Amino acid sequence: AKQNGRDNARFYEAYMAEDVANLFQFEQVIKEALLKDQFSLVYQPQYDHQRQGIFGLEALIRWHHPERGNISPAEFIPMAEESNLICQIDEFVIEEVLKCLKEWQNADVDIVPIAVNISGRHMVSVGFVDYIEQKLTEYNVSGRWLKIEITEGVFIHDVSQCVDIMSALNALGVEISVDDFGTGYSSLNYLKTLPLDILKIDQSFVRECGDSAEGDKICEAIIQLANNLDLQVIAEGVETELQATVLQQLGCHLHQGYYYFMPETKESVSDRLRQQTHN
Ligand code: C2E
Ligand code: CA
Ligand code: CA
Ligand code: CA
Repeated sequence: AKQNGRDNARFYEAYMAEDVANLFQFEQVIKEALLKDQFSLVYQPQYDHQRQGIFGLEALIRWHHPERGNISPAEFIPMAEESNLICQIDEFVIEEVLKCLKEWQNADVDIVPIAVNISGRHMVSVGFVDYIEQKLTEYNVSGRWLKIEITEGVFIHDVSQCVDIMSALNALGVEISVDDFGTGYSSLNYLKTLPLDILKIDQSFVRECGDSAEGDKICEAIIQLANNLDLQVIAEGVETELQATVLQQLGCHLHQGYYYFMPETKESVSDRLRQQTHN
């Protein structure tokens, strides 16, 4: 057993060493991707059943690698989050989104807020709020058009630090959503303490909605929780008419998913927003 334990330790070391090398290589590839404009954004419209129109967009990153083709953010974002390069990716996304909002503002497009996914570690890092404030000023865009989505993980680190940063963002008009709500940590204590605006019901719960009375239960509970706490609630990953109907019956009117819209280019989305104005 002793021998076996030592083997395991050696295996672990080798594995970790290899991992660090991988991460280093990976960082080089990401730096190159940033320099060579291999990243772009798509925007997924979000639908409000009560107002019967698009109420917001979520910006989603895309990576087109010249040899390896398209690489999913589900693959490279978690790795980027292990290195500080996630900050550079976040800043690329923020800059692109503000460019887009500024362009639409100047072209008289009826704009809606755009949500960006930000790494929690980055949001609580020194200088983040200043950076956002400076960029809003630089692009002459009001903070009410920018929203930030973060996952629950960040809230366990330092709640009082989160309160300060999120309040400062709120003061700029930037609203904050909890992404993938219900999949992170078991304590919901942070919901009372933090200045949050929106809960996004995770796709895994939405997928079960309409399947059975059991399947509806989690969505129902999250919607009630949001109502009780005076938070908005967005269902994401809505793919079927049944899910859309059940969610509305449960009191959730803000939906995002393939049933309504796929993530689209900036050009397609701005066409949609123009059409919406004329309807
Ligand atoms: P997420 O933030 O939960 O984003 C929603 C994901 O669900 C997106 O996948 C979107 O394309 C997909 N989706 C939307 N509607 C439906 C639907 O009806 N059914 C299904 N099955 N999927 C739907 P995507 O773009 O591949 O992004 C995956 C994840 O990668 C995101 O999950 C987010 O965690 C991360 N990510 C994407 N873009 C960014 C970014 O710009 N910055 C950061 N930090 N993370 C990002
Ligand atoms: Ca998100
Ligand atoms: Ca999500
Ligand atoms: Ca996610």
